[in-house]
Amino acid sequence: KVRVRFAPSPTGPLHIGGVRTALFNYLFAKKHGGDFILRIEDTDQNRYVEGAESYITEALQWCGIPFDEGIGKDKGFGPYRQSERKHLYKDYADQLIANGMAYYAFDTAEELDTYRSEHESEGKTFIYNWHNRSKLNNSLALSEEETKKKLDAGEDFVIRFRSPENEMLHLQDLIRGEITIDTNILDDKVLFKSDGMPTYHLANIVDDHLMEITHVIRGEEWLPSLALHVLLYRAFSWEAPRFAHLPLILKPTGKGKLSKRDGDKLGFPVFPLQWQDPSTGDISRGYREDGYFPEAVLNFLAMLGWNPGTEQEIFSKDELVQAFELERVHKSGARFDPEKIKWFNHHYLQEKNDEELAAAFSEILIEKQIRTSLPLSRIVSLVKERATFVSDLWEQTSFFFEAPKAYDAKASKKQWKADTSGLMQQLLGILEGLDDFSSAKAEANVKSWIADNNYGFGQIMPPLRLALVGEMKGPHIFDITEILGKEETLNRIRKAID
Ligand code: GLU
Repeated sequence: KVRVRFAPSPTGPLHIGGVRTALFNYLFAKKHGGDFILRIEDTDQNRYVEGAESYITEALQWCGIPFDEGIGKDKGFGPYRQSERKHLYKDYADQLIANGMAYYAFDTAEELDTYRSEHESEGKTFIYNWHNRSKLNNSLALSEEETKKKLDAGEDFVIRFRSPENEMLHLQDLIRGEITIDTNILDDKVLFKSDGMPTYHLANIVDDHLMEITHVIRGEEWLPSLALHVLLYRAFSWEAPRFAHLPLILKPTGKGKLSKRDGDKLGFPVFPLQWQDPSTGDISRGYREDGYFPEAVLNFLAMLGWNPGTEQEIFSKDELVQAFELERVHKSGARFDPEKIKWFNHHYLQEKNDEELAAAFSEILIEKQIRTSLPLSRIVSLVKERATFVSDLWEQTSFFFEAPKAYDAKASKKQWKADTSGLMQQLLGILEGLDDFSSAKAEANVKSWIADNNYGFGQIMPPLRLALVGEMKGPHIFDITEILGKEETLNRIRKAID
C-alpha cells in the first residue's frame, strides 16, 4: 500500500512551496488509494518557532489537503512529532556504531574551523570523510581504550556516518531518472548530536522506515541529501522507499528561487495564511486573508511544476487526483506567476452560486455600515464576471447603494449635450407612466419612444447611465433601473437634470 508523508519542520509559517509538496504527496496517495501522513520534524530545538505547528495544520486544512494519519489521528505508527520519538533514535545510532557504519567524533567546533581554514589556505575544500578521518579526533583514529575513556569522562561527542570510499552510487529519482554520485565528495554527516538529539538525517530515515513510507516526495533542496539517505538505508539493511524531488519554485521573473521578499516587493503573499512572527510582531500576508478561495490556490499549486499533458488548466480536487502522475512532474524550476493565481480565483468566483457570493459580500456592506433592502444576489450576478475577489464586488456595485454625488467630468462633457436635459425630461415622463418597472418592460417602452421620435440611442442611453451610476460603467442599464426601482431611478434622473 502506498504511504507518503509530508514532514515539515515547525521553524516558521509554511511557505507556499511547502503546501505544494504536501499537495503532490496527497494527490499521489489518493491516486493510488494510499495514505497521506503528516509528521512534524521538530528535532532542531534551536529553530523551533511557537505557533508554527498549528499554522501548518490549519493551512493544510484550509487548502483542503487533509491527512489520513498524524497528530490526533494515530493509526498505530505514532507519535507523529519527532520530539516525542526522541527515545527511539539513539538505539539506531548505536546500531550503526556496532556494525561499523558510524563512529564517535570528539572534534570541537574550533578544531574543525582550524582544519577548514588550513585547507582553504591551500585552495582545497575540507571534507570530513576517509580523506582525513584518521588525522581527526574520532573513534576511527583513536584506540578503543582512548575512545572509551573519553566517553566515560562524559566528553562531548557526535556520531558521524562513515561514508564509503571510492564508490559510484547510481541513485534513482522518479522525476529525474538516474543520478550518479561519487562517494568521495560526501561528508561524514552527523547523525546524532551531543544534546542527545538525532539530526534530521537520522530521524528522517528511521521514521520513514518505521512508518513504512513507500515514496518520499519532497523539494529539490533535499536532493543533495539523497546519497546519504540511500546509504543509510543500506547501512541498516532496510529497503529504501522510492524518491521524487520536486522542482524549485522560481521568482515571477523566472530567475532564482521564490522568497518571502519577492512577495513583499511585488505585493503578493507567499504564505497560505497570514502569519504574525512571534518575536518581531511582523505580519506576513496570506492567501486566505487576501481573499483567495482555497480551490483556486490548490488548482494553481497543482500546475506549479506539473501538467496533465493536455490544455486543461481547471481541475477540481477529484480531477487532480485522477490526472496526477509523478512522471509528468517537470525537472526544471516552475515560475511563480501571481497573475495566474488571480486568474484561477476569478474562475472560481464565477463558479460560486449567487447566494453564497451575496452572503460574503454582505459582510463587506456591514463593514461599510451600509443597510440595504436591495436584492444582493441579483446585483452580484450582474457584475461578478468583472470581479476577481469578493471585495471587488463593492467597486462594481457601490452606485446601487449610494447615489452618485458627482459625475465623471470627462464623460459628462462628452455625453451631456445642450439638448440632453430636455430629452431626459421627456424620458422622465415615459418612465413615470410605467406601472411595470421590470427590466424588459422598461427597455421595450424606452426603445419604442426613441424609435417613435427618431432619436438616437447615443443621445439617451449614455446620459441615463451617467445619471444613475455617475460614470460610464455598470451592467445593463434596465437591470439597474429595475433594481433601483421607480422612485430612486426618477430621483437620480431629476437630480442629474438640475
Ligand atoms: N523536515 C524536512 C523539511 O523541513 C523534511 C524533508 C523531507 O521530506 O525529507 O522539509
